[in-house]
Amino acid sequence: MRNYFRLVLVIPLLVLFCRAAYAADRPSFCNQCVRADEDFLASDALQGRGSATRDEHIAATWAASQFESFSLEPGGDNGTFIQKTTLPNPLPDRLKQYISKWEDTPRTETWNAVAVLRSSDSKTQQDAILLTAHLDHLGIGPAVNNDSIYNGADDDASGTTAVIELARTLSQGKRPKRTIIFALFGSEEIGGFGNRYFIEHPPVPVDHIVANLEFEMIGRPDPAVPAGNFWLTGYERSDLGPTLAKHGAHLVGDPHPDQKFFQRSDNYALAKRGIIAQTVSSFNLHKDYHQPSDEVSKLDIPYMTTVISSMVMPIRWLADTDWKPSWNPNGKP
Ligand SMILES: [Zn+2]
Repeated sequence: MRNYFRLVLVIPLLVLFCRAAYAADRPSFCNQCVRADEDFLASDALQGRGSATRDEHIAATWAASQFESFSLEPGGDNGTFIQKTTLPNPLPDRLKQYISKWEDTPRTETWNAVAVLRSSDSKTQQDAILLTAHLDHLGIGPAVNNDSIYNGADDDASGTTAVIELARTLSQGKRPKRTIIFALFGSEEIGGFGNRYFIEHPPVPVDHIVANLEFEMIGRPDPAVPAGNFWLTGYERSDLGPTLAKHGAHLVGDPHPDQKFFQRSDNYALAKRGIIAQTVSSFNLHKDYHQPSDEVSKLDIPYMTTVISSMVMPIRWLADTDWKPSWNPNGKP
């Protein structure tokens, strides 16, 4: 009888202990941070984060400060979280013409924010997982319905939010077996200058990057795929998407292959170098694309929270395994 009572006491204690251990191992995702990040990045105060403007610089500095607060390692220039590069001088004519339609600011420099979550394992530490998005948008331009601020809440404050919130969550708990790099690029909209500089000045050698996931326009659900999912460009090109989905990522195939999104984002420069680099998106071809009306009020924050948080455990798994994704036959660009 006495043993029986002891068991009755021990079992609930064991259950409590296991639950606590499980919870400690499962980092907690900050739901309200998704809205907070968007409220800052896509605010009128940031004036649409025009490529290579002071507003892009402020966005990069803020992202760097977020990374620093998560106790990540700096991945930028001279021990900082920032990478700065100058745009080509003179700018190509096509670009000069394009920029002249937008706010009249000198554009000479662009900024990235880069952070590293260093591996804990000497055997796998040279492998790196790269998570990216672009910080910049179009800035101030021709007014539409009396609004001249192109806020870019979906393009690409939403992807920037995803990278920052994944950094916040993945930096909790024990360090991964592979290194994870978080990089936010400037000047994507005028030709991918920030991304180009990053590829020439990466915090680890480029060929150590096992996989790159770019997050681009994930602020609204796409009715072309089942509810609560986003999609991966070039899904059928590699085994990365299906494998992450098997581990819980709410990822399906790109329903708009005719749009050639695989080639239209910052992932492509890396993919052309042979790295498995694909873009996560849910762009539903909405009419606010590159318009002043791409604003926070149009976002579906609960949707964003669902899909971004669905990536935490699959990325954690990818960072803790020695499995390497590979291109399918004819998948490599
Ligand atoms: Zn974009």
